[in-house]
Amino acid sequence: NRIITSTMQNDDVDIENNLRPKSLDDYLGQEKTKEQLNIFIEAAKSRNEPLDHVLLYGPPGLGKTTLSSIIANEMGVNLRITSGPAIERAGDLAAILTNLNENDVLFIDEIHRINRSVEEVLYPAMEDYCLDIIIGKGPSARSIRLDLPKFTLIGATTRAGMLTNPLRDRFGVICKLDYYTVDELAQIVMRSATILGAEIQAGGAMEVAKRSRGTPRIANRLLKRVRDYAQVRADGNITDEVANQALELLGVDSLGLDDVDEKLLLTIIQKFKGGPVGLDTLAASIGEDRNTIEDVYEPYLLQLGFINRSPRGRIAMPLAYEHLNIQYPNK
Ligand code: ADP
Repeated sequence: NRIITSTMQNDDVDIENNLRPKSLDDYLGQEKTKEQLNIFIEAAKSRNEPLDHVLLYGPPGLGKTTLSSIIANEMGVNLRITSGPAIERAGDLAAILTNLNENDVLFIDEIHRINRSVEEVLYPAMEDYCLDIIIGKGPSARSIRLDLPKFTLIGATTRAGMLTNPLRDRFGVICKLDYYTVDELAQIVMRSATILGAEIQAGGAMEVAKRSRGTPRIANRLLKRVRDYAQVRADGNITDEVANQALELLGVDSLGLDDVDEKLLLTIIQKFKGGPVGLDTLAASIGEDRNTIEDVYEPYLLQLGFINRSPRGRIAMPLAYEHLNIQYPNK
């Protein structure tokens, strides 16, 4: 398992529950999204109505689940969490919906993976707060409408483009979560260290932040490991030097890249002369699944400007050569 993976790992569970901010004020960064949500929440509360349905999209670990629990907290309602792949049949969703209380928040993670028959139950539920149930079969079949409590659906997805149009159109609020800046991540690291009771210097937090790939989940995970290192090797105090040593030992370089990123970049540069190389060919060369490359490896490398997508495939950019100390060829 890569320490810089942005998806949730088993040993993240405890720490994430501890460190999860509970109010919008505690939620650092994403200023535009926060401001929007603040207004919509205030307005909905003053009208005593549920908040409009919200779609949150962006890479894993940026705070979509956290934001949904904050929304439920701020609205003063219950939160029910599920995920697209977990709802197998239309009846599963109907059971969840009929068990909600008025104005509750239902969070569906990975909503792009919901199956078609389940999605069709969502349409009337989102639009009119009702379920259409078919009773019987053949010519005697008839449909009845069942009223549901008013609720807010919060859908989260790493890929807004994979949602069908009718589903996307039913969200009143659509928020894109962006990668965090190094300064924001340093603040998150400082906050987390305080909660964990770890001694940390601003320089130490900065070093962790720089290697966190714009992602709070990774920042918290790295902090946890750096704290262990500091405790055993350096009296527990996380200075910039201690953080640097710990992260080097963990195989995370100055920009948060590890050997898997390096392998991907070197494959494009050395095996395919810098590209373009098609996603499937690249996937086969490094022994990875194409979806993993697209969802997990690529976004941060694109963000750094290390690779580019072209219609003919992936291309390694000059910044990647520079980072790897390889001469950029004069093409
Ligand atoms: P996602 O649902 O997008 O995969 P999560 O909401 O589970 O991400 O966030 C992962 C962890 O990162 C959380 O446990 C939380 O501690 C931390 N986190 C996320 N966003 C923020 C933020 N804006 N401020 C502070 N911590 C955050």
